[in-house]
Amino acid sequence: MTALIVHGGAWDIPDNEVAAHKAGCLAALAAGWAILNAGGSALDAVEAAVRSLEDDPTYDAGVGSFLNAIGEVELDAAIMDGNTMLSGAVAAVQRVRHPITLARRVLESDYILLVGAGAESFAQSAGVELCSADDLVIDRERERWKAQQGQPGFRGRDAFRAAHDTVGAVALDAAGNLAAATSTGGIPNKLPGRVGDSPLLGSGLYADNESGGCSTTGWGESIMKVVLAKTVTDGLRQGAHPREAAQSGIRYLARRVDGLAGCIVLDRAGQVGWAHNTLRMAFAYQVDGQEPVVAIHQDEVA
Ligand code: ASP
Repeated sequence: MTALIVHGGAWDIPDNEVAAHKAGCLAALAAGWAILNAGGSALDAVEAAVRSLEDDPTYDAGVGSFLNAIGEVELDAAIMDGNTMLSGAVAAVQRVRHPITLARRVLESDYILLVGAGAESFAQSAGVELCSADDLVIDRERERWKAQQGQPGFRGRDAFRAAHDTVGAVALDAAGNLAAATSTGGIPNKLPGRVGDSPLLGSGLYADNESGGCSTTGWGESIMKVVLAKTVTDGLRQGAHPREAAQSGIRYLARRVDGLAGCIVLDRAGQVGWAHNTLRMAFAYQVDGQEPVVAIHQDEVA
């Protein structure tokens, strides 16, 4: 059995951005599915899917990411192998076009999380090409940044309705191994040095062959408090279907910390789940023998 699910953020995605979000998710699904279909690993599939989303300026990951309060990109990403439990993450990197690939190199090292300048030095020694920070900045984000100057800073929950376009993927390969990956530019106008849930194991992602895999998106400061991805995969371990585990994790986040988020889930059998308490979430999935499914709201595929 092979299965792959990807997401491109959970928020009030406006109607005029729906088509781009769906197209990007389908392209990422195709990139990851090609690897699974050729007998490749779940780890390679989630990396390829997330690289595709990082290349798409629609999303807040890689090129097109939000700018922080001083007008710079700072990117976070993480990847986890549910077979070996090896994991790699980077945070607050500025000159890396594909932070997920840098996270993969960290996974292959003796470390788990590298940040900022140290992560960029590691990139050079690990053969991950650096770009200029400006290469990742697009006009849409320069304009957003300009409009935010002089406005009150990040205001927590409400700011998250406006935009959060983090990307992620979870895969199950033919060998029965699960993997998860998440990549983000964080939140618009964030304080320099702010790190959210996305690169943190258990919050922004989790994968364990004994339970399942999950990637999350949403208000990081709420997701971290309930360790959302681990909470959801623990639900799988206790026998819940991925839909139930996802819904129960999101309900807990909403009830306990008034959080806002979405998540995608696969269990060991390749059953698919997702849930969000935002208006919309962009996601797409495919399982063996079936056509790809893409949606912007859970009712579309319920
Ligand atoms: N969770 C991300 C963060 O807080 C944002 C997002 O999902 O869009 O950095």
